[in-house]
Amino acid sequence: MSELIVETHALSKTYGKHTVLKDISLSVEQGEIVAVIGPSGAGKSTLLKLLDGLEKPTEGTVNLFSEELNKHSVRKLRSRTGMLFQKTILFDRTVEENITLGLSYRHIPAAERKKRTSELLAEINMESYAKHRGRTLSGGEGQRVAFARVLVTKPELLFLDEPTANLDPLATAALEEMILRENHAHKTTVIINTHDQAQAQRLADRVIVLIDGTIRQTGTPDDIWYHPADSAAARFVGFQNIIPCSIHDGMLSFGTAKIPTEKKDMDGFMMIRAEDITLSKTEGNICGTVISLTRRGAFIEIEVDAGCTFSIRIPHKEYTGDIAIGNQIYLSWNSDALIFSER
Ligand code: ADP
Repeated sequence: MSELIVETHALSKTYGKHTVLKDISLSVEQGEIVAVIGPSGAGKSTLLKLLDGLEKPTEGTVNLFSEELNKHSVRKLRSRTGMLFQKTILFDRTVEENITLGLSYRHIPAAERKKRTSELLAEINMESYAKHRGRTLSGGEGQRVAFARVLVTKPELLFLDEPTANLDPLATAALEEMILRENHAHKTTVIINTHDQAQAQRLADRVIVLIDGTIRQTGTPDDIWYHPADSAAARFVGFQNIIPCSIHDGMLSFGTAKIPTEKKDMDGFMMIRAEDITLSKTEGNICGTVISLTRRGAFIEIEVDAGCTFSIRIPHKEYTGDIAIGNQIYLSWNSDALIFSER
């Protein structure tokens, strides 16, 4: 097993009466890219601040590089980490100077500072910008320079807090490329907060779903997007159908339907993506009545009342116009696509 770079035990954080993080235990190995996803206000930024020693936990411990983070170790440990925020203000100096500033207070000789800065400018393809003023750059260029200012310190652990939230798709792609290059070239461990689920899928080896200050699930991108651990995680990753159900004695009941199943007894939710349900006029798992048809970009969303409401999505190109509100229709799914959760 690789070295554990981050390890937390029962971490919690309370501001006044508001508990923002509860019982967070996680570990991150060297060289991993871990994405923390979750709705706004879930506690993602607070978590990164606790991990980087910018805030103190109310309870629990953080270990970085196998050493406990506390007031005695924080300075030394932080010299091995780097943090990039959503928006960084560059100084009104040249790009080169802005990057070199990352090395102030680090007692690095001037010649070495200059060498590292020009190497980094070359690495990120911004040599021609060296003498440009920081304030004249576009948002995307500015964020790349801000990231270079972090990378020039050679961090072993990077915390990225919504680093592309203000960038357009091209600038986002350029920053993502820098993140991946840094990770591959130096085995730098990365923890990135993002509300952009596609970004988490593109970058992460492992994803943590944080909702209401608790970790709901940790897994590979496929685990998270196809096998959500509970109804809140499923809702966050875009499952449109989260339907109360129960299983007793080999029968699955939901709405007014009852169908045989081999799953074990439970009370909770059945969850399925809208695109994983198929429609037929003649046969299927259950029958219902079409109650709405809505165009959603390249898809048609069809709602069917079967004692509870199901959403189904079919590509607009495949829609032949033969389904109308009020029609009786059958719904089918592959049993692998149906996820059950007790919560
Ligand atoms: P996220 O990054 O997931 O959007 P945050 O960690 O920024 O979430 O915030 C989580 C919750 O903690 C929010 O309700 C926020 O208002 C609250 N919070 C964050 N920082 C502070 C603070 N310094 N004082 C009081 N409340 C805070």
